[in-house]
Amino acid sequence: MQSSLIGKVQKAKQYAQEPERVRIEQLAVRFQGENGDHKVSYDGAKWSCECHFFAGWGICCHTMAMERILGAMVPTKQVYPESLQQAEAAVAVGA
Ligand SMILES: [Zn+2]
Repeated sequence: MQSSLIGKVQKAKQYAQEPERVRIEQLAVRFQGENGDHKVSYDGAKWSCECHFFAGWGICCHTMAMERILGAMVPTKQVYPESLQQAEAAVAVGA
C-alpha cells in the first residue's frame, strides 16, 4: 500500500469532518416534499424553488430546509420575513 494514497484517504476523512471548508456556489436538487417534488436551486447566494409558497414569499420550507442541511457550506443565510421569524421562535420553544 502506497503511503501517499493512505494520506489522501486520511485527508479526505479529515476534510469530511470540516464542512466549513466547502462553499457552495451553485446547486440544483430535486426536493421530495410531502405533496410532490420541487426543483430547488442555489446560485451565487440566491435561492429559488418552484413551489407556490416561494413564488409569494421568496423563501419556503424547502429552501429553509436546504440551508439547515448544508449549514456552513452556504455562508450567506436567507433573510426570514418577520412573520417567519416569529414562527421559527414559536417552533424553538415547542409551540
Ligand atoms: Zn419550495
